[in-house]
Amino acid sequence: MTEIRDTVILGSGCAGLTAAIYTARAGLKPLVLEGHEPGGQLSITTTVENFPGWPDGIQGPELIENMKKQAQRFGATLEMAHLHSVELGAHPIKLHSSMGEIHTRTLIVASGASARWLGLPSEQALIGHGVSSCATCDGFFFRGKEIAVVGGGDSAMEEALFLTRFATKVTLLHRRAQFRASKIMLERAVAHPNIELRTNTIVDEVLGVDEKEVKGLKLRDVKTGETDTLAISGLFLGIGHEPNAKFFAGQMDLDDEGYIKTTNNVFTTNHGEIVPGVFACGDVQDRRYRQAITAAGSGCMAALEAEKYLEERGH
Ligand code: NAP
Repeated sequence: MTEIRDTVILGSGCAGLTAAIYTARAGLKPLVLEGHEPGGQLSITTTVENFPGWPDGIQGPELIENMKKQAQRFGATLEMAHLHSVELGAHPIKLHSSMGEIHTRTLIVASGASARWLGLPSEQALIGHGVSSCATCDGFFFRGKEIAVVGGGDSAMEEALFLTRFATKVTLLHRRAQFRASKIMLERAVAHPNIELRTNTIVDEVLGVDEKEVKGLKLRDVKTGETDTLAISGLFLGIGHEPNAKFFAGQMDLDDEGYIKTTNNVFTTNHGEIVPGVFACGDVQDRRYRQAITAAGSGCMAALEAEKYLEERGH
């Protein structure tokens, strides 16, 4: 017979690992399925300057590694596995995963959000051949080259600034004149001698599909309609993220952008009714704040609610 676990956590970013630390300390022996992007977004970022307790900042991967060790110290098990499908209405909840069927009394969904793409056929054809959404992973390949970054938020600023370590010139392309980025990040990008900002500009096509490497971009000014070509060797997308919630569609209420809707912060619902034993935390349910610290905070809340749920049922 399949063992029934007390708690399974989907995702190993800031929210999932915080939930793991709390449920492990409560003796629930959580199983964490690390998912397709182990460590979540922090594991592919550089310095985190706004996580309280690190006055000089900390590297994202180091912060995640510390959280993993902390969770494991209290008895959490982390598995490099991912979900295929889920039966939330079953008691216990059934998960079909890359490590087989798993039964659990509570499920904490911390599956986060993944990078968004422009959706151009030429962009999709050149992913891994000069098109990337991860500056920290791929920046190294563009040493001494000219590249472009798309986006107007903090991610785009961070990517552009990071890429100046390798690229000789970074052109930052944004579709509007106003930026979403925080003042401090925008000012750093504006002040950098190797970053050029182009506003009101969109990418119509990535050039180089036949050559199987990025050769340039076909750009369009959205105000004037004028088009031109920018010769670059790499294109980085910093245009936000999509929630990883598609497995739950039809079993959980999602909002119009696909984020899990929660009530009282972490309780999930289906047709407005609470789904028993299923809690959501972190970026998969947060379209507003999306910070490491808010993800960690909601991971803690989900864990406390899971613990309470089990206690009330005598487990
Ligand atoms: P974001 O704030 O949602 O910004 C996404 C940007 O991409 C926006 O400027 C948006 O343009 C643009 N965009 C979206 N879809 C596009 C498309 N199809 N074509 C062209 N442009 C497109 O996302 P984010 O920058 O990833 O930041 C998310 C959250 O994480 C924010 O709360 C941010 O503060 C936080 N964050 C913080 C740091 C840090 O503090 N170091 C670093 C990274 C992220 P519009 O403005 O026109 O909508």
